[in-house]
Parts: sequence; structure tokens; C-alpha cells
Amino acid sequence: MGESVIPLADLRYAAEVPVVPQRLREPTGLVSDQLGRPLHDLRISLTDRCNFRCGYCMPKSVFDREYQFLPHRSLLSFEEITRLARVFAAHGVSKVRLTGGEPLLRRNVEDLVAMLTEVRGADGEPLELTLTTNGSLLARKAHALKAAGLSRVTVSLDALDDAVFRRMNDMDFPVADVLAGIDAAVQAGLGKIKVNMVVQRGINDHEIVSMARHFRGSGIVLRFIEYMDVGASNGWRMDQVVPSAQVLDRLQAQWPLEPVAPTARGETAERWRYRDGAGEIGLISSVTKAFCRDCNRARLSTEGKLFTCLFATRGHDLRALLRGGRSDLEIATVLGELWGRRSDRYSELRGAEGTAVGTGERRIEMHYIGG
Ligand code: SAM
Ligand code: SF4
Ligand code: SF4
Repeated sequence: MGESVIPLADLRYAAEVPVVPQRLREPTGLVSDQLGRPLHDLRISLTDRCNFRCGYCMPKSVFDREYQFLPHRSLLSFEEITRLARVFAAHGVSKVRLTGGEPLLRRNVEDLVAMLTEVRGADGEPLELTLTTNGSLLARKAHALKAAGLSRVTVSLDALDDAVFRRMNDMDFPVADVLAGIDAAVQAGLGKIKVNMVVQRGINDHEIVSMARHFRGSGIVLRFIEYMDVGASNGWRMDQVVPSAQVLDRLQAQWPLEPVAPTARGETAERWRYRDGAGEIGLISSVTKAFCRDCNRARLSTEGKLFTCLFATRGHDLRALLRGGRSDLEIATVLGELWGRRSDRYSELRGAEGTAVGTGERRIEMHYIGG
């Protein structure tokens, strides 16, 4: 394939090349969107590939051998990612989450972490650097990630029962290896570790209490996530969602819990603590209690498209600016304008009954844009 041919996978999701305004503006660190929301959190997808095939994210029926993932030359390089992270930081981003696909599949990911530790926020402080992983390669990588400067890690784990877990990842991957990855992260001192469980009715909701029992008293915060209608591959139905209120009822029946005040605006999880002092859990109610009002998150896809909402159908091609020789100030001006125009609030509009809203364009997939 010649260099000028654009790979099919690059064209899968619509994106515009932003117009660089005539008047350039230095970022102030205080950009805000149409609903007064700042830009604090940047999620960077490092790869669209994964070694799992979770049915709610990359069902095998769609993500099979024929599926065309992005070719290597489409991906942002570590230098390009770091350059963009600097521009985002100048606009107020203080936290970066590396995600995917499976971010630990990206070769030498720890080198990127080390490069990102050099970036300073608008307040002059280093960024908070976190990573979300399925945990399969964590036992091997935890120490290198910590040594490179990663602040924290979040591990996705949907079941403790080995048979249920193997079925859910659909690659026959054993749960013991993920638990070993979590242990390695603890040993490495990778901050306050969080475990995310996507709850699906009839698939793993019978694991809610055993997961809570396992992580109670461990210092690890287990968070229950409502199954979301992201993308267009998972065949989402509202009746598969277990509302957080029901998760809480099931937990309260075992152990009394009380709410904890949020520590930061824009926090996605509602925090609860066991009254007996055995720690905290989180409830992420993306479907039944939308949190768009405080959403300060931007998402950068593997090949450098900016999405201002998880449910967006159209991105902004920042890679074209990077590779087109634009300066940091030009890219910062574009970013300021794009964020200033943002008015996304998909989950609020969707409504609690689960009626989808959209433009009819292809919605981005979770494995492509990250959590
Ligand atoms: N592969 C890594 C992992 O699984 O942690 C990182 C990427 S994954 C797309 C990020 C998070 O999105 C995971 O916690 C996953 O469980 C969650 N996720 C994926 N599809 C989802 C869906 N339809 N509803 C809710 N959460 C979802
Ligand atoms: Fe892979 Fe994570 Fe998606 Fe599961 S949720 S298929 S581990 S990207
Ligand atoms: Fe943010 Fe969009 Fe999710 Fe609302 S639906 S919380 S705006 S990503």
C-alpha cells in the first residue's frame, strides 16, 4: 500500500480537520465549554487492539479475524502524544488516563509514562498519570510502570468465578492471572488501586456480593459500572442494565453502607463506605443518573482524533495538525475553540428509559476510545 493511501480503519469514524483561526490565542488554563465545564481530564487511547473479547465491548461476532485494526503508522507516536498532552495541560488538564483497547499491549508503554511525567499542568504541577487495564499483563508490567512514574492503576474485573470470567473475556483467560496482576500492582506501590466491574443482568450480577466480599478490607476500591450503550456492536438493551440503586440494595443487605462526600467536581463514581470500616465502594451510574453536568473529560483516539463525548459520532483530527507542521500555539488555539463550542450531554438526553438519541452517524466504540 502506498504512503498516500489512507487505511480503511482510519476512515471508520468521521472526523474533521479543524480550521486554524487567524488570531492565535495563548491558553490560559481556564478554558470552559458552553455549559461552563472546564477541561481537566484527558483520556488517551494507545491502541484499538485487545487480547480480550468482552461481549459488551468487542464481541467476537464483530471483532473477528477480518476486522481491520489501525495500522501502526496511523497511531500517534509517543512524541506526538506527549506534545498534545502539553497542549491539553496548558488548557487546564491535570489528569491523564491511558487506555485503549488494552494499553499494556502498546510496546514500551512505560517509556510514554516517563515522557508524560515531564509535562506540567497550567498550575506548574506534574500531571496525575493513571492507566486502565484488563490486568492480563499487569503482573509483568507493574514495576516498570511504577518506576516510570505512573501514579495509579484501575483494573477491570467482571467476575471472580473463573468460569464466568473466562466466558466474559471470551478468550478463556483465567481470573487468577488478573488477580496476580492486581497483587503485583499493590506490591509495586501503584497508589490507590481501583477495580471496575461492569454489571450485566443475567451475566455477572450474581457476582456482585462475592466481588465486594473479596475486596472488602483490602484497601482496593471496587466500583460497579452500569452497562452502557456505547458504540453499535454490543446489542445493548436497557433490561440488561442493573441500576446502581439495585447494586446498593444487594450490598446493603449484607453490610450497612453510608455515603461519602465527593472529593472532586466531575467525579464519576458515587462513593459509599462500609460502616464497619472495611473500606469504600463506588457506583458509576452512567445510565440511570447521568453526570454530564460536570463532565470535564476529553478523549483522544489512538490515531489522534479528539472526541468531546463518549457518544460522539464526529471527531476532530488533531493528528492532521501535528503532521501538517502546525505549531503548539496553533493547536492550542484550535483546542480552545473546540472546547469552547462543546455542548455534549448525551447521557442526560438519552433519559432514564434508555431511548437513544443520535445523528445516525456511526458511534465510536469503547475499545477505540477507551473508558
Ligand atoms: N482494556 C482496558 C480495560 O478493560 O480496562 C481499557 C479499555 S476499556 C474500553 C475501559 C473500561 O471501559 C473498562 O473498565 C470496561 O469495562 C469499560 N467498558 C467497556 N465497554 C463498556 C460498556 N458497554 N459499558 C460500560 N463500561 C464499559
Ligand atoms: Fe478489551 Fe477492555 Fe474492551 Fe474488554 S473492556 S474487550 S479488556 S478493551
Ligand atoms: Fe460526558 Fe458525554 Fe458521558 Fe455526558 S454522555 S458524561 S457529556 S462523555
